[in-house]
Amino acid sequence: MRCRSITHIAVFLILTAGVSTGFAETSNTFNTKYTTIYYKDDKDLSDFLWRLGGTRLDFSGDKDMASNRVDRIVERVETIIDMRPKDLHIDVYLQRGDLKYNEIAFYQHKTCAVYLSVDKVSDGVFAHEISHAIVNRYFTTPAPSKIQEIISQYVDRYLWSDY
Ligand SMILES: [Zn+2]
Repeated sequence: MRCRSITHIAVFLILTAGVSTGFAETSNTFNTKYTTIYYKDDKDLSDFLWRLGGTRLDFSGDKDMASNRVDRIVERVETIIDMRPKDLHIDVYLQRGDLKYNEIAFYQHKTCAVYLSVDKVSDGVFAHEISHAIVNRYFTTPAPSKIQEIISQYVDRYLWSDY
């Protein structure tokens, strides 16, 4: 799913009006090389990993395989857009159902955090939001939002095209 311009408006409203993002209960964390994933229940993380990779895996028993599934996509995005910002670290928040304003995912620039609906995320959606984070880290002066969106849509579309 592509981000629409409403996403940026929504993020602006959340930041300025102090509206709850609904992620207060995401108390568990799972660390990978490039991300910290915040989630509420083990099933949320399990479903997220399943949606990224298409197979179930035991994230507590095989942490390396689980974190590789996430980091592989981050590195794939870096390769596609040829941007590898130093010390990249992205907070990823998982939630059930639709997010605010019926979005299934969005990136919040101020906190460098990605918010995802566990019920609807895919590897393409995840890659799209991760690319927003990478592009924002790469440029010291943020690229115009329209340019960012074009890059992120490209990443989503061609994520595995040369495999
Ligand atoms: Zn977007």
